[in-house]
Amino acid sequence: MLAFFKTWEVLVATRYALPGKVYLAGAGPGSAKLLTLRALEVLQQADLVLHDDLVSADVLACIPARTAVHSVGKRCGQKRTTQKEIHRQMIGAARGGQTVVRLKGGDPLIFGRTHEEISALRQAGIEFEIIPGITAAAAAAAGAQIPLTERNSAEKLVFVSNHPGPEKMSRNWHTSVTQDATMVFYMPGNDYSALISELATSGLGERTPCLLVSQAARPEQRMIRTSLGALGTVPGIAAPSLLIVGSAVAGARAEEWPAPASRTEELGAPEVEEFSLGLRRDTDKLAAR
Ligand code: SAH
Repeated sequence: MLAFFKTWEVLVATRYALPGKVYLAGAGPGSAKLLTLRALEVLQQADLVLHDDLVSADVLACIPARTAVHSVGKRCGQKRTTQKEIHRQMIGAARGGQTVVRLKGGDPLIFGRTHEEISALRQAGIEFEIIPGITAAAAAAAGAQIPLTERNSAEKLVFVSNHPGPEKMSRNWHTSVTQDATMVFYMPGNDYSALISELATSGLGERTPCLLVSQAARPEQRMIRTSLGALGTVPGIAAPSLLIVGSAVAGARAEEWPAPASRTEELGAPEVEEFSLGLRRDTDKLAAR
């Protein structure tokens, strides 16, 4: 008799399981220390985590071993998980009563295709919550010790997607290019020639300061400060990277390109190494406290 009730309970629980909830969460730029407390909390309660390629190993290490973790990244050249398939997995698991975290690099609402997931969840009647994250531009600015806006010289901040693929957005950002704007190009690639000529056509001079930031908030972080005139000669840097253009980046703490010969001789090569390892050293200092 007891066995009968047990089986019945399991059947009822499976058939009428309360739907779970989906968290569309930002993983921040890399370091797990830049996760929000809320993101960390839901990651530790999740039954299933669906994450993008941009999510760092440091953040993934915060997920308990019992949690199912699937990469649904869309790596260039490799088989991609379609947006439809991501919706199917997310909604299917939530309908089965699971707590699902859809984890995206940076902030989920910045160049993250999250609007499609919001529509799918609304349509399916699944409860969801959006958890903001630190976007790459904010981490890059913090690493370079520069403001993205400045009261007198950079009153406008523009985030532009330079996606090279078929999902390329309209290039109507030209109208936003002014002397008093800071332009942040996400997904800049490694060939800046088209961007350089478009920025020049929009009226920016050769001396306009530019900052390339590779792997912000990760131990491999690297920053190169240059000018629009010299940007085309900078050697490729590792992805993910950002390009920031405008007077706000003039004082960035970064390697200079081209390196001023006299300063390089004066200071020696270590300057470059110091900046690229800066994050790891800071982290070590904090950990030692
Ligand atoms: N939602 C993300 C952006 C996704 S688009 C955010 O808010 O940051 C992907 C692009 O973001 C990358 O091609 C790169 O341009 C930028 N990016 C993401 N993480 C980065 C990092 N740690 N350092 C530099 N750029 C990064």
